[in-house]
Amino acid sequence: MKVLKFGGSSLANAEQIKKVCDIAAADPDRRVLVVSAPGKRHPEDTKVTDMLINLAQEALGGRDTEPAYAAVIDRLREIWEDLQLDATGFDEIAEDLRQRLAMPTDPANRFLDAIKAAGEDCCARIVAAALRSRGMAATYVCPRDAGLILGGEFGDGQVLPESYARLADSLKNRSEVVVFPGFFGATPDGETITFSRGGSDVTGAILAAALAADEYENYTDVDGVYCVDPRLVPEARPIPELTYRELRELTYSGFNVFHEEAVIPAIREGIPVHIRNTNRPNAPGTRIMPRRRFKHGEVVGIAGQRGFCTIYMSKLLMNREIGFGRRLLSLFEEEGLSYEHVPSGIDDISIILASDDFPTDVERRILERIRLELQVDALEVERGLALIMIVGEGMHYSVGMAAKATGALAHAGVNIEMLNQGSSEISMMFGVKDGDCQKAVRALFDEFFSDR
Ligand code: ADP
Ligand code: ASP
Ligand code: MG
Repeated sequence: MKVLKFGGSSLANAEQIKKVCDIAAADPDRRVLVVSAPGKRHPEDTKVTDMLINLAQEALGGRDTEPAYAAVIDRLREIWEDLQLDATGFDEIAEDLRQRLAMPTDPANRFLDAIKAAGEDCCARIVAAALRSRGMAATYVCPRDAGLILGGEFGDGQVLPESYARLADSLKNRSEVVVFPGFFGATPDGETITFSRGGSDVTGAILAAALAADEYENYTDVDGVYCVDPRLVPEARPIPELTYRELRELTYSGFNVFHEEAVIPAIREGIPVHIRNTNRPNAPGTRIMPRRRFKHGEVVGIAGQRGFCTIYMSKLLMNREIGFGRRLLSLFEEEGLSYEHVPSGIDDISIILASDDFPTDVERRILERIRLELQVDALEVERGLALIMIVGEGMHYSVGMAAKATGALAHAGVNIEMLNQGSSEISMMFGVKDGDCQKAVRALFDEFFSDR
């Protein structure tokens, strides 16, 4: 059996939802459909999730929520009516959103999650109704009832291990097609809690793992995972096959076509993932699997992401000072900060983290403690760093990759602030100035893909 997930643009209007129904009907193995909230119909449009966030903010600010409520309901009603579904059925959806708005607004994050989740929840009801109107047996399933239990913070839920057995119990051997809203589950207390943005990919991966699916088909608005973000390099092409490790590195580094955390349940259960285009269901898509054949020196993808900073420090004989690294990293732990990379030399070390996680007040505190507790000789923070990642299983086995990459960057006039090669077998990372990010990705694309 297959678990399918459809992203927001695949559900943006009635016409798109009809394509979803066609895809579901085309293969009897397609048993579980995970849906996002309706997304953008055109580039200037607003996603339903963003409309809901706006609605929640109006309520939290104590303002009149009627215009924002009406905007969401009108958007959903239009889809319902264009699908020519039973006129009275929509009242339930409108009433559901009213009830969510009547919930206590404190704590704000709990309220926000309950409102945000309405997009997926309503969309799943709409898709189930659309499938039934075509004579298919289909049911909406509520994540709380099915046992999708999440821990973590509101807005950043993490699946709890017991969910897998519960989901398997409630979803396997169903005779009808299950339509399951993505993006949210329930806390152990039964409160609605969402994953981070884009989290419907994670719901799909969890269900595929729980049901030991033969495949997880992830439908979006592009032909698969492209070797470079197609918005940066329009002539980039989809990658036919990737390993889990390659996908993990690329999604981590900014390929937001698939949620960074969604590959984890697939890896654990060895579920093949197939990224496909709702608008071109016959295109081959990208297949993601545990292993694949690769050529030595082959690069599969190049990713770039802005918004990092480095905290650089040096101290003579750092290499001999037992416990230096532990004490340094524990300062970050005590501030509740996670770091991305820690390149180091004999007498120096840098910590790289996302700038958004490192506001100036935290910076001041951390720097003071580093100076005082670690007695470093030099200490500097540099913001505005972009991380460029070159990924491929074949990289480990190949000499000359770094020379090729640095040559291409130098030729394009991009200054390399930092280079990290070797800690990962399948990737190489460069730090460049934010402003050089696109130029660097383009130069590396020309170097590694011009002949393909
Ligand atoms: P969905 O709503 O279907 O989950 P997303 O917007 O989350 O869709 O992801 C698809 C988008 O990801 C594409 O439209 C594209 O703009 C963007 N994207 C970024 N990097 C890549 C890449 N390397 N390959 C394909 N798409 C990419
Ligand atoms: N609708 C949610 C979002 O916009 C989740 C998703 O689309 O995967 O972030
Ligand atoms: Mg997405």
